[in-house]
Amino acid sequence: MKTILTGIRPTGHLHLGHYFGAVGNWVKLQTDYETYIEIADVQALTDNFDNPDKVVKSVKNLTIDLLSIGIDPNKANIFIQSLIPEIAELTVFYSNLVTISRLERNPTVKTEIKSKKELFGEKGESITYGFLGYPVSQAADITAFKGEVVPVGDDQLPLLEQCREIVRKFNSIYGKTLLEPEAYLSKFPRIKGIDGNEKMGKSLGNAIYLADDDEEVRKKIMSMVTDPNKIKIDDPANPDICMTYYYHKLIGNENLKTVCEECKLGKRGCVACKKELLNKMLEFLKPIHEKQRYYNEHPEKVDEILKEGTKKAREKAKETMKDVKKAMRINYFE
Ligand code: ATP
Ligand code: MG
Repeated sequence: MKTILTGIRPTGHLHLGHYFGAVGNWVKLQTDYETYIEIADVQALTDNFDNPDKVVKSVKNLTIDLLSIGIDPNKANIFIQSLIPEIAELTVFYSNLVTISRLERNPTVKTEIKSKKELFGEKGESITYGFLGYPVSQAADITAFKGEVVPVGDDQLPLLEQCREIVRKFNSIYGKTLLEPEAYLSKFPRIKGIDGNEKMGKSLGNAIYLADDDEEVRKKIMSMVTDPNKIKIDDPANPDICMTYYYHKLIGNENLKTVCEECKLGKRGCVACKKELLNKMLEFLKPIHEKQRYYNEHPEKVDEILKEGTKKAREKAKETMKDVKKAMRINYFE
């Protein structure tokens, strides 16, 4: 069985972007791969170090979300990053293998810095050493578990490339020890936000969360960006620039063709179209909400799952650490 390592930052609940862009896939993959799912609290702290409560609270919420969409703790190990000190150790060793200018050129880091500036103005301009270095720590996340396949959204591809470079450098200096991971992309590797932004993101405030209640979902769907040229109810419109149509497609509405044709012919008002989407969306969310309720009422089960997953993950990371230290000749007394 090949090994999968994938992760998510505990900075809030899961949203549709996660589900359709990445996390939904993990449910299928967990059967065919040895699966490790990292709750990346250390990475979340790189830009939330002044708000640890948010991160800590999100660890449980996120775990509940993962269980609610069908991640099975008997198949996948869900673990907490900060409880695996080997990842921090590896990060230190890898940080010698990457230049500062290479990190600054990383397209994902660049985009994130840019959107921080837009969101927070001057405060967003102070980029810490830890934030700039998170791709190095992510390389440690992946390699600590000998991850061969990394299922992610396409915003993560430059980070994976960075990891591969670090692996090659490590192997060329210290001898072949680490595996070069490969990305696994979903059918929809980048899900747009309800505001039409290219990416739905927690930090971007444009997401529908799997934990949103019916009223929140209704409000968000009603506020979705549609074709700005459609003013009257019977104006024809262009579904390709309409977020409502986009989500009809994503959620797998079986009447998609009708939605599209009626929209183009001006036979469908946006409000009616949004109401139809709302019904489909609530149908999709219903079983997820039921499981969320169950785990919220049984927090001890969630703790148990995290403890067990972390224990198994740590065993694997310890093995890797041994190989790494041996390769670097710093296995002093062995
Ligand atoms: P943050 O804004 O805090 O970075 P995020 O919404 O980007 O949050 P992450 O925890 O960084 O979420 O991402 C977890 C996984 O979900 C990654 O594999 C990422 O590529 C994927 N992902 C996140 N948002 C989307 C999206 N809109 N479309 C596709 N995949 C996504
Ligand atoms: Mg992100």
